[in-house]
Amino acid sequence: MELNDSIRNIKGIGGKSEKLFNKLGIYTVEELLCFYPREYDVFGKIEPVSSLTEGRMVIIEAVLKYVPKVSASGNLKSVRAVFKDASGSVTAVWFNMPFMAKMLRMGTHYILRGRTVNRNGFLELVQAKILSRQEYANLTGRLQPVYHLTAGITVNAISKAVRTALKETDLNGDFLPADIRKENNLVSWKKAVCAIHFPEGKEECIQARRRLVFDEFFLFALALGQVKKTKNKIPSKYIMSKNAMPLKLAGSLPYKLTTAQQAVWQEIQQDMRSGNVMNRLVQGDVGSGKTIIALLALLMAAENGFQGAIMAPTEVLALQHYETFCALLEPLGIKTGLLTGSLTAAQKKKVYAQMASGELDIIAGTHALVQDKAEFKNLGLVVTDEQHRFGVKQREALYSKGNEPHMLVMSATPIPRTLAIILYGELDVSVIDVMPEGRKPVKNCVVGTNYRPQAYKFMQQEIEAGHQVYVICPMVDESENMEAENVTDYTQMLREKMPPETRVACLHGKMRPAQKNSIMEEFAAHKIDILVSTTVIEVGINVPSATVMMVENSERFGLAQLHQLRGRVGRGDAQSYCIFMAGNNSKEVMDRLSIIGNSNDGFYVAEQDLKMRGPGDFFGIRQSGELDFKLADIYQDADILVAANKAAARFGDKDIMELCKKHDKLKEKIMSYTGTIFL
Ligand code: ADP
Ligand code: MG
Repeated sequence: MELNDSIRNIKGIGGKSEKLFNKLGIYTVEELLCFYPREYDVFGKIEPVSSLTEGRMVIIEAVLKYVPKVSASGNLKSVRAVFKDASGSVTAVWFNMPFMAKMLRMGTHYILRGRTVNRNGFLELVQAKILSRQEYANLTGRLQPVYHLTAGITVNAISKAVRTALKETDLNGDFLPADIRKENNLVSWKKAVCAIHFPEGKEECIQARRRLVFDEFFLFALALGQVKKTKNKIPSKYIMSKNAMPLKLAGSLPYKLTTAQQAVWQEIQQDMRSGNVMNRLVQGDVGSGKTIIALLALLMAAENGFQGAIMAPTEVLALQHYETFCALLEPLGIKTGLLTGSLTAAQKKKVYAQMASGELDIIAGTHALVQDKAEFKNLGLVVTDEQHRFGVKQREALYSKGNEPHMLVMSATPIPRTLAIILYGELDVSVIDVMPEGRKPVKNCVVGTNYRPQAYKFMQQEIEAGHQVYVICPMVDESENMEAENVTDYTQMLREKMPPETRVACLHGKMRPAQKNSIMEEFAAHKIDILVSTTVIEVGINVPSATVMMVENSERFGLAQLHQLRGRVGRGDAQSYCIFMAGNNSKEVMDRLSIIGNSNDGFYVAEQDLKMRGPGDFFGIRQSGELDFKLADIYQDADILVAANKAAARFGDKDIMELCKKHDKLKEKIMSYTGTIFL
């Protein structure tokens, strides 16, 4: 079998399962082999029921005590059964598995493995697997791969296909030159691919991952080197000499720009005047005031007769930019338009026409901006907001809408400067490292679940004072349906706990975009007091009267993500609060959470988190999916990034071409990081 072959060639994969694999983005043997486990399951010891705490995968051995109860809410059927061991009892619950009720036998001993969750104050064991004694003995202590799944496909099906593919494909062609491998102590590609799927032990797994992470960074660095070359000092067609309007606007704002904002704004003006194309990354912590910088730059472009576009990762954020821009720019005679996916066809058509004719000076939008029909008259400046949500590819796609426009990239991801210089190699980096004056730092606390009643009382007080509250529930790995149920349940429970006039709403990933938008808009318009949500609210939204955020099971989030979440509060004049609720109070969890509890500085948080976990500790929680690496994590793998970048820097065009000749997939791979043609 060849790496390029369709997965249909793998024994056991027929037409039906092929479609399921396709759904996971797997078409070829190589794609299957590069479909890495999301994490590994390590089977621990059997625990006494009385020692269970919430939010963990646990194994118990217990007897079925009562006849299981079957119930239904909406289209979700559940089976609940009480199990007892010498120390106490616990309820196990299975969703959409009605057959469990018939399968379980009263008085029988079972070994159950599942996740503990808190349901209205009681621990429940969710979707537990029943293991035979033999299975348990075989699996204990081994690393079990866990894959992202889609309905109809199981971990076993993937494992089986991978096993067959590994056996029948020649994996000896290693694209990485031997000297680089040796210098960096990397295992062969073959070894890495085998071990990432079926590690013998933790050490082997770490070595495999190190090699594959190195590959990702190495290819990325090669690709970036190519982009950098093409971007270096291109003469610009959009030389902007006038800046009276932004100057006037900056002077009329209700606040003074911070020194950091002023410095960045100076750099941007210089870039746009310089005669060369601007390629600048503006990095600033959440709430540091990046939007106004984008607005000033776009206004400057407009004053000089050029169009500008700002692309945001969500519709809500795009709309918010649109509204901010209209409010500040309309009085100056500058016309802003909005282009998002949820506009009707007729509305879109109108915006397209206004963009093409030049009637609109500025267009705020989502990735709808990069679609084929979107054409500009004279696009001089492109801004991408909350960059970490876009790959280099999308950034390039918008860029290519114009004729080499200036480019400004905004990011709130706290990346140490040394890494930013590598990751955003083709960009100049500016940093907004000062917060607006008068901003009260968010007050944090890290608490156990017994604090919940007090937290609810506190939320109530804040709502009475005219403020709003976010409650964040963690992702549920098992399925999106369960995640939705979690959030819906929680919302229901809060409605009962809070005074009847409290308006509680929920938001989760299963909702349609239009529904999500309308809830976010209602929250922004203060028609909702408490918003219970999964991390779908994470990005960029600005609701200054929201002063409290409570994060349930905060131990299940990465610290960088918690920091982004926290950025939703503390955006106005009032004192804001963030309550990090820990589902278990082990020393490890508490130490990690105390980092975020004790600091509001995103850079510090990221740095401490990295120190604490140490490189190679990949059983930790994955950080935000920066730049769409599959395995690599820029914080955790910072040392590999530096090494891979160094290795790539030695490569001239000729070497890359040689490499590409030997491995026809390589060029494609490198391109996939950038979307640009090179060499
Ligand atoms: P972010 O950097 O996270 O995108 P925003 O640009 O949304 O932050 O700004 C957050 C809030 O701070 C907004 O309400 C904005 O009007 C306000 N703001 C921005 N700059 C200043 C400043 N220099 N002084 C006071 N408030 C400011
Ligand atoms: Mg922002």
